[in-house]
Amino acid sequence: MISLQSLSDIIEQRKNRLIDINDKIWGYCETRYEEYQSSALLAAALEEEGFQVAKCAGGIATAFVGSYGSGKPIIGILGEFDALSGLSQKAGVSAKEALVEGGNGHGCGHNVLGTGSLAAAIAIRHYMEQNHLSGTIRFYGCPAEEGGSGKAHMVKAGLFDDVDAALTWHPWDENLAYHARMLATCQVYFKFKGTSTHASFSPHLGRSALDAVELMNVGANYLREHIIPDARLHYAITNAGGFSPNVVQAEAEVLYKIRAPKVQQVRDILDRVCDIARGAALMSGTQMEMQFDSASADLIPNITLSSLMHEQFTKVGAETYTPEELDFARAIQATYSSEEMKRVHAGNGKVLSDKINPYSVEPDFLHASTDVGDVSWMVPTGQIYVTTCAYGTPVHSWQMVAQGKSSVAHKGLLLAGKVMAASAIEMMQNPELIEKAKAEHKQQLEGEVYVSLLPAEAKPAPIRRA
Ligand SMILES: [Zn+2]
Repeated sequence: MISLQSLSDIIEQRKNRLIDINDKIWGYCETRYEEYQSSALLAAALEEEGFQVAKCAGGIATAFVGSYGSGKPIIGILGEFDALSGLSQKAGVSAKEALVEGGNGHGCGHNVLGTGSLAAAIAIRHYMEQNHLSGTIRFYGCPAEEGGSGKAHMVKAGLFDDVDAALTWHPWDENLAYHARMLATCQVYFKFKGTSTHASFSPHLGRSALDAVELMNVGANYLREHIIPDARLHYAITNAGGFSPNVVQAEAEVLYKIRAPKVQQVRDILDRVCDIARGAALMSGTQMEMQFDSASADLIPNITLSSLMHEQFTKVGAETYTPEELDFARAIQATYSSEEMKRVHAGNGKVLSDKINPYSVEPDFLHASTDVGDVSWMVPTGQIYVTTCAYGTPVHSWQMVAQGKSSVAHKGLLLAGKVMAASAIEMMQNPELIEKAKAEHKQQLEGEVYVSLLPAEAKPAPIRRA
């Protein structure tokens, strides 16, 4: 029997410290592979608690692994801490107002995620000591979830090779243990080089790289009809070749993101997108160069671990909220679009989720991607979602940033820490649970083996800014 009270006490005793870490990471709001302060802060907190920390894990500057204990089982807790560009927003206000014009913001709540996972790792570590439990707890400091596939690089570096099970969570507007499949994805830059000239005086001498990008996008938009319905194709023009219409654009670049249920499907669609890029170069008389950016695998669910987490979640219980917290959440909801309000109406006007959703063993499918996918191919991986914001808050929004250091977010991270810690301890005390999760993992992979979507030359890279 686990003493949930002891686990809770360990976390509650460190509540102020954890909240301070959360709020600081919110303020650092560092984007992919540039999370130097956030990663240093989390690593220092682990060292203070007696973890051995390997920095620059897998040769990635902002990745680290904090470890406590020895031998098997080895349980990994995944913590993220990267922000999104362009989402700067003041905290605690219910109106869109940038803190720093054009700055970054924690629009996916990864400051809360990383700190909640830290709470879990610390609780497990002290509980292990108090109860003389053998095994190893590892906190994986995972950079660059947002478009950088940090975990795919960490998996490639072998950092998960000996792990028995991994647990993680995500800040959300509901409480649930969930095991959806998600999409594999990759991002590739297509850069076109043409010939610059006066667009009116000598257009026949020019070859437009911007034409190539436009032709490529037209081709890709025609491709959409002929790929599987669950696939997704997105692009962003990262260089339109300048600001002068009277100069033929000598350089232009577009970043493509391809998603599909399976890694091989992503590869096949990427091949066709590459053909379109070559065609666009031929049509426009330009040169095309490809540069791989990032990729992550599809997410493999593990019902054994999600059931375990649901059970522990139910025992720990959901949070309750004060009238002030409900008022602020209502003020946030008042800023939703009519489309976003549909979710609130469907939830009977729910303001803050103070219940745990019923658990369903039916596998679900989400049209989203995460680099947790790569970890989930290597080891059984369980995940929960915990209330940290008003019901209906869209992810990657200013509203999410505005609530990132609210008392609701603080309650959420402490709660997530407790549930993950209880689930990990349960596994340490009942090794048969890990065996069951591993057997299911094998079954879920259906005989397939993990092959990273990352090409050999792919390197972790920060956001490219013009
Ligand atoms: Zn996220």
